[in-house]
Amino acid sequence: MNEQPGRLWVVATPIGNLDDLSRRAEEVLCAVKLIAAEDTRHSAPLLARIGSRAQAVALHEHNEREQVERLVEGMLQGGDVALISDAGTPLISDPGFRLVRAAREAGLVVSPVPGACAAIAALSVAGLPSDRFVFEGFLAAKSSARRERLQQLVAESRTLILYESSHRILASLQDMVAVFGGQRHAVVARELTKVFETVLSGSLEQLVARVASDANQQRGEFVVLIAGASGEEADATLAEGRRVFALLCEELAPARAARMAAAITGAPRKQLYEASNN
Ligand code: SAM
Repeated sequence: MNEQPGRLWVVATPIGNLDDLSRRAEEVLCAVKLIAAEDTRHSAPLLARIGSRAQAVALHEHNEREQVERLVEGMLQGGDVALISDAGTPLISDPGFRLVRAAREAGLVVSPVPGACAAIAALSVAGLPSDRFVFEGFLAAKSSARRERLQQLVAESRTLILYESSHRILASLQDMVAVFGGQRHAVVARELTKVFETVLSGSLEQLVARVASDANQQRGEFVVLIAGASGEEADATLAEGRRVFALLCEELAPARAARMAAAITGAPRKQLYEASNN
């Protein structure tokens, strides 16, 4: 080992508007000799724009395991590395977790260079309670799996934040109506910081109608935010959970019945199970 170990910089890049790259991000991306990028071709124009001469190596979900070893070894020898993804903050529905974990386990310093993140940008303009929220990332591609996951979130009282692609935005919103009911308040934030930025808000039913009737509203990148369940909604879910739990208890052991009733209704499993012990 010749010198001080290098540092891993986790650098946020813009989610659309290139002017959102911070000055510090620019400095770091120009100072390091090596950049681990989700897709080197995608990041090339950004790096060229700021005059970074760093070598870019690909770090994506298919090669993360092998690359991590090489990158950590390089940092232990003394070179800094910057980690970037195609857009926004690395690790947030993007690769990088294994590299950060390995770097920390190797005793290296890992420093964030914060910046754009679509989830937080959307939350900041949605007008939904922002004191507590849950980030769910992407839902499954298949409707059945999507509904199953949504069902587990039906009684969640914190604001829900989800990522969605243009191929599935309408189908996903329709599944949300089916599971949460058409009246739940939600926001669809599309193409944030870009030319066609739109932030639609209303009931889930209104949002489905709006998105279905306008093909433009199905283009681009989306963040969907759903208001958390109100006290009455949570009570109604628990009541339904108890009803299903009681029926299932006629055939199944309480622990199993509680697990199934929770999966079917979204009611908290623990509360159902505890009720059976009282
Ligand atoms: N790491 C990124 C971040 O910090 O937001 C997210 C990467 S994830 C692979 C890409 C998803 O983020 C898109 O499918 C979309 O759901 C959301 N997204 C990214 N940019 C967006 C934008 N400008 N407007 C709305 N959603 C966006």
